[in-house]
This record gives sequence, structure tokens and C-alpha cells, in this order.
Amino acid sequence: MNKQTPLPGGKVWLVGAGPGDPELLTLKAARLIAQADALVYDHLVGDGIVDLARPEARRIYAGKEASNHTLPQGAINTLLVDLAREGLSVVRLKGGDPFIFGRGGEELETLVASGVPFEVVPGVTAAAGCAAYGGFPLTHRDHAQALTFVTGHLKDGTVNLDWPALARPGQTVVFYMGIGAAAEICRQMMAHGLPSMTPAAVVRNGTLPSQQTLLATLGTLPHRIVEAGIKPPALIVVGSVVGLHAKLNWFEK
Ligand code: SAH
Repeated sequence: MNKQTPLPGGKVWLVGAGPGDPELLTLKAARLIAQADALVYDHLVGDGIVDLARPEARRIYAGKEASNHTLPQGAINTLLVDLAREGLSVVRLKGGDPFIFGRGGEELETLVASGVPFEVVPGVTAAAGCAAYGGFPLTHRDHAQALTFVTGHLKDGTVNLDWPALARPGQTVVFYMGIGAAAEICRQMMAHGLPSMTPAAVVRNGTLPSQQTLLATLGTLPHRIVEAGIKPPALIVVGSVVGLHAKLNWFEK
């Protein structure tokens, strides 16, 4: 479809914007952003991506930093419905993939309840972006037979995560939103049987020019995070695949 063709109004496209590098957008995402009447975007969506919108498109920042919720989730849900009811084509842009820790599902439920039609466009999730640009294949078969994505946003400071399962060997475990809870995460992984020497890494600002990878072990990671002043957005990756960064890193020189 031609980029200039207007989209039908009264509809919402829930679109994954990928992990940062604008070139990791799908062709479909780039086209929809360039055509939309209104763009509602999150904190993790880069300027280079929002800039693809038409000059006259309405741009609405919906925020969402860990402790600074610009618009509460309920307000975002109703905003999407209101914009669609105004007859606009609305692109709801989320960092990474909208269905991976993106609360995209909740937004769609409100649209369904309000009778607003929608489509969903997947995106490159942060784990895939960080692994590719960090040079550690998440399931390199000499290292991992399974891959788990976990939220590190711990309710009440500790967690009802299935630690015994997460601490099983032969897998790679990726914690999203885990920087604030890094000490607790590493402590639990070791308490449930992983050696303190288990390789663990943090990747901050993956796929962006400012990408930073920190290689450590479960025993040393929390301290290293504090020492390096690592702030979100960053992933914690636990498992021996992170050691491949030394050999396969091509991006951070
Ligand atoms: N839907 C998103 C995740 C949203 S949760 C996705 O699929 O990627 C937000 C968390 O994602 C951040 O706290 C961080 O842990 C991770 N994240 C997002 N972008 C990142 C990036 N460029 N580098 C490292 N981590 C990132």
C-alpha cells in the first residue's frame, strides 16, 4: 500500500516499535506510522521513529517510566477509544513487541468492549534486539535448550516467581524491568541452586548507539550494576550464552 494513502478512520493499530534502532521497525510498522492521523506512543519509542509520522499527525506521549506513569493505564485505554471515535486512524506504538510485557492485551480488551476495530503488528522484542546487537545467541545449542522471558518488576519487593524452574541449568533467562530488583533476582537464583559463578549480563539501551553491555556473574552483577550506574531500560540475562559476547560482539566497539 502507498505510504500516502490515508488509513481508514475509527480504528486502532497496536504496533511494536522494536527495541530502539529505527531500522528494526517492520515495513508494516513504518508504513502505518507514516499514514496515521494520530500516534500514541510510549517512553521507550525513540524520536527517530515518532519522526516518521506525518507533520500534521497528532502525537500523544503516553509515557511510562518505571516510577513516573505519565498517563495511567485506564486513561490510555479510554484515550485510544476516544481518538478512534473521533474518526481518526490511531497507531498505538509500543516499545519492542506489544504482547511481550507491553500491556497491549489490556488495551485491546478495552477496544473490544467499546466496539473499536483493531489490528496488531508484532515488533522485535528487547531480548531479541539485545542478543543480536550484544552478540550472544540466546539458544546457542552448546549452552541453552530453553529460553524464558520473565518480568523483574517484583510486587512487594520480592516475588512469586517460580525460582526453582528459573534456576534450572541449560537455559537462558531474560529479566525485563529487572534493574531495580537485580540484587533480589541474583540472590534468589543462587539460593535456588545456580552457582555464584554463573555468567550474567546486563544490556542497557540495546540496539541504540548508546548500547552498553556489562558482563558479570550472579555473584557480582548487583554490585557491578550499581558501580556502573546502570539505569533502565536494561535487560538482565542469566546463562552461559552471555559469555559468547566476548567472541561474537560486533556492535559495541
Ligand atoms: N514490550 C517491550 C518490553 C516492555 S517492558 C519489548 O517487547 O521489548 C520494558 C522493559 O523492556 C525495560 O524495562 C527493559 O527491561 C526492556 N527493554 C526495552 N527496550 C530495551 C532496550 N533497548 N535495551 C534493553 N532493555 C530494553
